[in-house]
Amino acid sequence: MSTYTDALLARIDGRRDELVALTQALVRIPTVNPPGDAYEACARLLGERLRRRGFAVEYLRATGAPGDNDAHPRVNVVARHEGRPGGECVHFNGHIDVVEAGPGWSQDPFAAVVVGDRLYGRGSCDMKGGLAASVIAVESIIDAGIPFAGALEISGTVDEESGGYAGVGHLAGLGYFSRPKVHHVIIPEPLGVDRICLGHRGVWWAEVETRGRIAHGSMPFLGDSAIAHMGAFLHLLEAELGPQLRGRRTAQPVEPPGARSSTLNVNSVHGGHVEQRFAMDADGRPVGDLPAPVVAHSCRAVLDRRFIAEETLEGVKAEIVAMLDELKQTRPGFDYGLREIMSFLPTATPRDAPVVQATARAIARVLGREPQYIASPGTYDQKHIVRTGRLDQCIAYGPGILDLAHQPDEYVGIQALVDSAQVMALAALHLMPGAAA
Ligand SMILES: [Zn+2]
Repeated sequence: MSTYTDALLARIDGRRDELVALTQALVRIPTVNPPGDAYEACARLLGERLRRRGFAVEYLRATGAPGDNDAHPRVNVVARHEGRPGGECVHFNGHIDVVEAGPGWSQDPFAAVVVGDRLYGRGSCDMKGGLAASVIAVESIIDAGIPFAGALEISGTVDEESGGYAGVGHLAGLGYFSRPKVHHVIIPEPLGVDRICLGHRGVWWAEVETRGRIAHGSMPFLGDSAIAHMGAFLHLLEAELGPQLRGRRTAQPVEPPGARSSTLNVNSVHGGHVEQRFAMDADGRPVGDLPAPVVAHSCRAVLDRRFIAEETLEGVKAEIVAMLDELKQTRPGFDYGLREIMSFLPTATPRDAPVVQATARAIARVLGREPQYIASPGTYDQKHIVRTGRLDQCIAYGPGILDLAHQPDEYVGIQALVDSAQVMALAALHLMPGAAA
């Protein structure tokens, strides 16, 4: 039993250079989203590699999904290796898109330079390193000739950074994240080699529009300012709702702990004329367009409400509507519209779920310590797997430091890549009956 395990761990350790090379190859394809560059090249790099190793490989383009067009096709890849019949399927899902590099880098963000134990590059941490580690983990199980019942799957999916609708959301709609095809999902997001992420808080996005009456800006008393009405609403959010939200604490182990309360962010406010920019020249004269002198007849704000498992989506909506209705009763001229943009419920995989238990055992074996259980303040692709795929056996586990994601000089630790590949391989074996682990 332990012979298999020791040999497997040694095999993965021996493939350290190959793991680094695969991560580098993935980082060097600049799959920047938006707009969704080079997705197909990245999907094919993964798919052709796995096809050569005997996987059945499918490329699934989310034709017609938001963002999909011939210049930027949303191409996903799913690869499956069958074991003996009678077992369950363990699926590793990694997103292949990365956010823009942005300024502030001391390394070329797409050169995948290695310095000491660090591999630098946009996406090295979030999450091409984790995706590469899952590939090495699965290949090593197969190469070792370990007999198992069930199947191993790897997918590379698009658009996680912009909601995942053309990626995991699309595949989940086609049944790719549901039983009986898949039973356990591990998403190698960069949460740290000894942390198991069980789920995330809920999210509700809505746009509130306040309405007024246009008039000349020199005689505002003849109009009714939508911006002033929005100001009254924003004041209520700050003064009344804010303290209530901070007082609601979840029992879920959300990291960082500040996110164990409910939160609300106003993502944007736009009122009056379309955004205009002006500046003064050296002589103090205005250049560019000046805003016209009108009283705003419309003002819009996008609310980003993150809620905890102890709240309900209906309750979250109702308290905003109640505040707006109260203003309508008490504030002369106040009128509003509300448009819901997006919502996802909180998810929480039970701690006694097999995928959690298997990963915890693997962490203890590889790292010699107990895992930390966490939950995420924001959503990631697990939301589609739970809602559309109706699969609650899902965790996020992978190498890298979450704080480095989306930052300049993002990197992933090479030892962390190897450690996490070993954990992922052992976790998969624990989940497959007949495998000796
Ligand atoms: Zn990510």
